[in-house]
Amino acid sequence: MMKPNVHYAELKDSYLFARIAEKTKAYLAAHPEQRLYRLGIGDVTQPLCPAVIEALHQAVDEQSARETFHGYQPECGVPFLREAIAEHYAARGVKLSSDEVFVSSGASDELGDILDLFDRANAALMIEPAYPAYVDASVIAGRRIIHLPSGAENGFLPSPPEDADAALIYLCSPNNPTGAVFNRAQLKAWVDYANRTGAVILFDAAYEAYISDDALPHSIYEIDGARTCAIEICSLSKSAGFTGTRLGYTVIPKELERDGMDLNAMWVRNRTTKTNGVSYILQRGGAAVFTPEGQKQIHEQIALYKQNAKTLTDALDRCGVWYTGGKNSPYVWLRCPNGMGSWEFFDLLLNEIQVVGTPGEGFGKCGEGYFRFSTFGSPEDTAEAAERLVKLLSNR
Ligand code: PLP
Repeated sequence: MMKPNVHYAELKDSYLFARIAEKTKAYLAAHPEQRLYRLGIGDVTQPLCPAVIEALHQAVDEQSARETFHGYQPECGVPFLREAIAEHYAARGVKLSSDEVFVSSGASDELGDILDLFDRANAALMIEPAYPAYVDASVIAGRRIIHLPSGAENGFLPSPPEDADAALIYLCSPNNPTGAVFNRAQLKAWVDYANRTGAVILFDAAYEAYISDDALPHSIYEIDGARTCAIEICSLSKSAGFTGTRLGYTVIPKELERDGMDLNAMWVRNRTTKTNGVSYILQRGGAAVFTPEGQKQIHEQIALYKQNAKTLTDALDRCGVWYTGGKNSPYVWLRCPNGMGSWEFFDLLLNEIQVVGTPGEGFGKCGEGYFRFSTFGSPEDTAEAAERLVKLLSNR
């Protein structure tokens, strides 16, 4: 008889968003006259920018004529997009060859699939609080997880632990949920640690486009030594509004080897076996993101979300509430005032000012007592929510 993967039974129910949905539904049922201000969503609200839309339309038209039709494409990505991404890195001083860039259907897919490169016996270290997919993908693979707690005392950016035996290290910067961003020295400490121990870093850079502080690294390859210890996983979801369109990319340097095995070559083998690549049409749309026009347009959208972040952090400053993030990230991570618990604060905001956020404890134990606001909503709703927050918290 088939024996199922028993590790599925070890997964914790992702009750966070279900519980939020349940609570908001119950509130609206009891107060049908009210509307909610949603600062909990992790999805973007701005449409794809005009440069991308135009490229997508053109690519669809190409598929309509025999002379311009495209069938199967190279599994690791079409050369024009791999080259455009490598040039994008070069503009920041990071030299990559285009065959170190792999086009993907998004960061989530890659965060799961990439685990094929590693033996199950490798323990995986994750900084807590963490994006829930890291934990779940490792649980499914039956991998041991080492939780590294973080907190306000280290700005949610802990240093490598000297005594851990992790072979895989998940780093996310700018971080979801905390919005914290590693500086060069902090990231260098992780790179040195991985090179010393032989671990491999999975660097999730899904939010790098939100970094506006020039001193902060967008890519782990801005750090000396990263090419021998890190894989970078990126996404066009939050930078260019591709959450529903689906496109991302992963970088695996040629120097990344363990036990004489070349991880770049292994990933080529994996992709050519397990996928037939990403849609040609979407890759045309993705390439438009890396044109000067596309960059200008996506940065206008990012600026709008960052203005939302400022609206929220200004409100928190006025109330004297501690937070991280917001400046180089679309998330603001705050300490619940007056020692309140995450769910207690959630209920207060929902019932008193109709604002919905995300309780921090949903991202791991260290998130207890913290709360996440996302900045992907409309400026009008964000401004109204911020005003309501100030009125509520300044009366307490
Ligand atoms: N990594 C982090 C930290 C995220 O927050 C998200 C989405 O919210 C993803 C990866 C997934 O991105 P994608 O839409 O490319 O799958």
